[in-house]
Amino acid sequence: MSSPIIKIENVKKFYKQSRALNGVTFTMNEGEEYLIRGASGSGKSTLLYLLGGLDRPSEGQVIVNQKNLADLSDEDLAIYRNRYVGFVFQFHFLLPSMNCLNNLLLPARLAGLSNAETQLVQERVVKLATTLGVSECLQKFPFELSGGEQQRVNIIRALSLKPKLLLCDEPTGNLDSENSNKVIQLLRKLAFENKATLVVVTHDPIVAESFSNQILMKDGKLVAT
Ligand code: ADP
Ligand code: MG
Repeated sequence: MSSPIIKIENVKKFYKQSRALNGVTFTMNEGEEYLIRGASGSGKSTLLYLLGGLDRPSEGQVIVNQKNLADLSDEDLAIYRNRYVGFVFQFHFLLPSMNCLNNLLLPARLAGLSNAETQLVQERVVKLATTLGVSECLQKFPFELSGGEQQRVNIIRALSLKPKLLLCDEPTGNLDSENSNKVIQLLRKLAFENKATLVVVTHDPIVAESFSNQILMKDGKLVAT
């Protein structure tokens, strides 16, 4: 039933001082979940950035949904990030100048959705806020929230436009084990409902062991799948 939706072919990413990725090749299937493990500095975040179109490889191809991301203009890459990808990072990027609800509606506004469509997104994010126990946070500004609350709002924002590719870089880094578990279960449930591909980087052994596809990285290379 599953088919490859992502193809990474001999991808390399060099910075002045380091080889962050040194020839990575793999495929990911639509609607499946993948866990990426590896020591600090092994290239996990760099790989997520390239998958999410936040950066471009030095060499090699990143093909998503039959499109080579290298062929996209900067503008089309921005549209790809907005409409296709949901990012959850360890550190939240909520805008301090607007309340949490407006932060959550920002992707919809950037996507140019109609008022009616934006209303649907609003209903969706309010429901998710209830699920994750942050509904009282919606009218507050990010600085009024705890780290864990900010993290959960950030996760809801990533899910707001039902991304087909969900990239999570240590998404439970700031959460206690109960909320960690809730967040992972929610990410999985929504990925399943939307047939989204879920890619998670984590050091949390309990989260990690439950994933069916495991990718291990070492020194910018894939050492096992
Ligand atoms: P991980 O997420 O597995 O800890 P990263 O992908 O963040 O690893 O980093 C891989 C390597 O690339 C590390 O050696 C890191 O120092 C280097 N690196 C990552 N981003 C940059 C950057 N923007 N500039 C220079 N070096 C970088
Ligand atoms: Mg990292």
